[in-house]
Amino acid sequence: MKIVNDLNLKKQAEELGISVWQTPGFLFLILGAVAITVMSATFYLSQNYDSPEILVLSESAVSIVILIVGNSVIGIFEQMAKVNKLKSEFVSVASHQLRTPLSAIRWETELLLSKLKKGLSDKQVKNIESISLLSARMTRLVNDLLDVTRIDQKRLLLKKEPVNISILAEEAIAEATSLAKSRNVEIAFTPKKNLPKVIGDREKIKMVIENLVGNSIKYTTNRGKIEIKVCKKDNYIFFSIKDNGVGIPEEQQNRVFDKFFRSDNCVKYQTDGTGLGLYIAKSIVDQSGGEMWFNSVENLGSIFNFKLPVK
Ligand code: ADP
Repeated sequence: MKIVNDLNLKKQAEELGISVWQTPGFLFLILGAVAITVMSATFYLSQNYDSPEILVLSESAVSIVILIVGNSVIGIFEQMAKVNKLKSEFVSVASHQLRTPLSAIRWETELLLSKLKKGLSDKQVKNIESISLLSARMTRLVNDLLDVTRIDQKRLLLKKEPVNISILAEEAIAEATSLAKSRNVEIAFTPKKNLPKVIGDREKIKMVIENLVGNSIKYTTNRGKIEIKVCKKDNYIFFSIKDNGVGIPEEQQNRVFDKFFRSDNCVKYQTDGTGLGLYIAKSIVDQSGGEMWFNSVENLGSIFNFKLPVK
């Protein structure tokens, strides 16, 4: 199946935003064709000509062809690597530049809502609250983009501090309570006392848990039930979150941890999302020496898990 996909050159070109002759599949076919021609020609020549000069000449010609093709392949990959680097730098600069005006908008709206609220009408307060919510959402997006560039450029720095996963789960659940209530979703979690600590970046691991809790709520329709568990096994702390939500279609499950992935069944009704959360979460867990995985059945629910090594 993968080989059929790899040879669908038009699809590859569309996905990569390049022309068909630049796709890895096309270059792979060219190299294959060159190798087959070379082998057949050498076989033919060695059968029909005894002269070693002709063989040496034909082999030199073949080496030159392979060098030319190889050189153009390397050139295309170099070009792709450069474009990729430029893209990461652009995202990083743009995100940094966006952070300052966004912080200013948030400070100003907070000031209006706290100190100057008395002089405002109800409609004005509502409008300012909406600006405040939207700017908070944009700040999250900008921070996610910055994290993605750091991950892609292998510059994501993680602190090493003792972290209690049970306490982080409690905090993340408390912060998500109002969202869960508004969506009629129940969260069940029994905190574990004396759970050994893992070594990691407290803030980033909390981001991972917040993302998983947020997703379970977002992608669970009415009367949802979420079950969170933490435990220690074989020198690892395991975290799992199970929901009875919309699940992920089987044919899209291999892309769940890809950047910007959003499954078709979720995009339809949940417009608020970027497809960056799980990519960032998995990178954080991997970089902390752990693993992240999931099981999901469309229309039945999902269970997302991660494990992190104990101190
Ligand atoms: P976002 O939620 O912002 O779209 P994520 O990276 O957190 O981005 O998730 C990527 C996609 O994976 C989601 O858009 C959704 O399609 C799917 N997904 C993640 N968690 C769940 C879940 N608990 N149930 C169903 N689908 C999920």
